Amino acid sequence: MRAEVVVIGGGVIGCSCAYRLARRGMRVVLVERGDIASGASGACDGFLSVQSKRPGRVLRMALESLAMFERIEEELGEEVEYRRCGGMIAAEAEEGLETLRSIAEGMSKVGVPVELLGPEEAVRLEPYLSPEMAGATHSPIEGQVNPMKLAYALARAARRSGAELMTHTTALRVEVEGERVRSVLTDKGRIWTGAVVIAAGAWSGEIAGTAGVELGIIPRRGQVLVTQPMPPMVGRVILCACYLKAKRGGGVGVATSIEQTASGTILIGGTREFAGFDTRTTPEGILGIIEHASRLMPILREIPVIRSFAGLRPYSPSGEPLIGPMGPDGLFVATGHEGDGVTLSLITGELIAKAVAGEAGGVL
Ligand SMILES: Cc1cc2nc3c(=O)[nH]c(=O)nc-3n(C[C@H](O)[C@H](O)[C@H](O)COP(=O)(O)OP(=O)(O)OC[C@H]3O[C@@H](n4cnc5c(N)ncnc54)[C@H](O)[C@@H]3O)c2cc1C
Repeated sequence: MRAEVVVIGGGVIGCSCAYRLARRGMRVVLVERGDIASGASGACDGFLSVQSKRPGRVLRMALESLAMFERIEEELGEEVEYRRCGGMIAAEAEEGLETLRSIAEGMSKVGVPVELLGPEEAVRLEPYLSPEMAGATHSPIEGQVNPMKLAYALARAARRSGAELMTHTTALRVEVEGERVRSVLTDKGRIWTGAVVIAAGAWSGEIAGTAGVELGIIPRRGQVLVTQPMPPMVGRVILCACYLKAKRGGGVGVATSIEQTASGTILIGGTREFAGFDTRTTPEGILGIIEHASRLMPILREIPVIRSFAGLRPYSPSGEPLIGPMGPDGLFVATGHEGDGVTLSLITGELIAKAVAGEAGGVL
């Protein structure tokens, strides 16, 4: 079998890359070990956030991605539960206010609309927030999407543009001859190709290693609780002020995220843990999440939780995703998005398509 480009991994990142590459007329084969979205992209939240990004490269990418989300349902011809609902970062106590002020200041310097709200204004927007809370930031440009629907819609659009999707197929090795990629060996046979995009999420390090490339990507587990479907009660995507510290540090712990999905369930997150490739939820994780989140939104203690799940974020020690050519000629990586992969999915596909087409060089 031959392909112009082989994409390894069928999460939001791999599907977005396959779609943009196929749209440019390249012969693409996507290889996915399980089903589409069977990794982190099927076990995560759907926040499309900008306030949680540091001003700089990742924030710029997030803003470009958000602009692309505005057109995505029309472009893909499918509904992916995209909503520009606005987002908040809420401080449950005074000590979080400094974080909020620095977010509002940092964002306004680069022209991102973020306003600082007192507790009454915040509770007016989100009536179930605790009246005891200290304040919040609010950005009207943030949104949410259903990550699983997004991955499937991108995969189907890639196929309509000519890509071949090989699910239940494991890439065993990226084979290099001299200084060039020449093929991908899978458990279903060899695919001859001149270009490979590694978009294997938390597993990217393993497959990159077969081509002699060290990525340093490791899995960072996140546990999430799902409530029974409720009438509309949470309008925006909400993070707690300590989320930024939890995300940016290389440590472990719980930081609150709350969103209500189109089906009415409320997703309550989440943990950050280094537990290898173990995707089990734990009693400590579940209790920590409910304890933490209900300080910000007390009613969450009253709503039945119907299930919990855990996903593996592809954690990059640099704190930034790796997107672009790396190692032997023809090898590209699109990974290390940690807790930002859904937000950055659309722009990542576009950047990779440009890089493979030779329109951009270096790690982007
Ligand atoms: C609890 C939690 C909450 C999150 N919330 C958000 C959020 O609100 N907003 C946001 O922007 N991001 C969020 N994220 C982060 C986001 O989910 C990830 O960054 C994103 O899903 C990563 O996508 P991916 O395609 O790189 O990886 P994955 O979705 O993990 O996909 C990688 C795929 O590669 C496949 N694969 C691996 N090895 C091979 C191989 N050798 N051969 C073939 N296939 C292979 C796997 O089966 C998998 O399907 C969250 C993550 C978690 C865990």
